[in-house]
Amino acid sequence: MSESDTMPGAPVAVRKIIHIDMDAFYASVEQRDNPELRGKPVAVGGSAARGVVAAASYEARKFGVRSAMPSVTAKRQCPDLIFVRPRFEVYKAISRQIRDIFAEHTPIIEPLSLDEAYLDVTENLQGIPLARDIALKIRAKIKAETGLTASAGISYNKFLAKLASDHRKPDGQFVISPEMGPAFVETLPVGKFHGIGPATAAKMNALGLFTGRDIRNQSLEFMNANFGKSGAYYYWISRGVDERPVRANRTRKSVGAENTFSTDLDAFDALVAELRPLVDKVWRHCEATGNRGRTVTVKIKFADFEIITRSRSVAAAIAGRDELERLACGLLEAEMPLPKRVRLLGVSLSSLHTAGEAEPQLTLGI
Ligand SMILES: [Mg+2]
Repeated sequence: MSESDTMPGAPVAVRKIIHIDMDAFYASVEQRDNPELRGKPVAVGGSAARGVVAAASYEARKFGVRSAMPSVTAKRQCPDLIFVRPRFEVYKAISRQIRDIFAEHTPIIEPLSLDEAYLDVTENLQGIPLARDIALKIRAKIKAETGLTASAGISYNKFLAKLASDHRKPDGQFVISPEMGPAFVETLPVGKFHGIGPATAAKMNALGLFTGRDIRNQSLEFMNANFGKSGAYYYWISRGVDERPVRANRTRKSVGAENTFSTDLDAFDALVAELRPLVDKVWRHCEATGNRGRTVTVKIKFADFEIITRSRSVAAAIAGRDELERLACGLLEAEMPLPKRVRLLGVSLSSLHTAGEAEPQLTLGI
């Protein structure tokens, strides 16, 4: 292997990334909810004279109908096309449902849209060794809970995982292993690369670059000179290398865990014993996502279902698991003796920010 075939810097351990993509999402939801649309060419959106198609069912795609196509063109391609009004509230609710399913396996979820997300399952919450098995489980649960199908791509980086999810669509999945990666990209037309739009593809073609192999034959200097900042990205993906991390949803405001006991508890020791695994879970999430927080909340649900919450904020982000446990136990201790037996305990951390950014500055840097 020549030096140019390796990434600069320290080697990164092999990651396990899944790209999940719902099949013809909006159109499938409409067909699910209206049996009369099943088996028929359906376009969501675009009913107005100058509208565009937001999504097309597989039956419509056979006629060449595509999303973003003007509805006039779509109707010409497929005269029997049925236009349906989009119902975004329904799509959003399903999107939340599938994200909850993803969250059973990993907190590192990067949604790309309502129906697509990257998941980093290198370390996964159920300890499933093979990412392909996680993808199977997720797809089966999506089917069971929503009645809809999803496809999955499984690989060691985001770029290849996204390519892979297209490979067995609909209702399929495909693995691109580290051994297969470079060969997989070699024959791929540049226009099919995620991140290479039509304009860039045309420019590449003009330079004699038609496939991954053609890019691979160019030097990094050539790619930089012709494609600016994106040059290096194209250079590396043509070798099947993509080090971009899966970025967990940053809008999340708190991270928490809770547990209902099989029998109600009231002894402090017993409650602390139940609190510890919750602290572990919250802290694991923080470590996995790089989230740090300053506010700890303990939730106590009594046997009669009354709920109380107690919070404490500290000046600087909680730095470790033990500090989180100490604060949570302190909040619980302050409530002792409890007036009633407890059926559920919860711990959560809020005032979140991502480690290394946006933390309120407490000391002056030099
Ligand atoms: Mg989709």
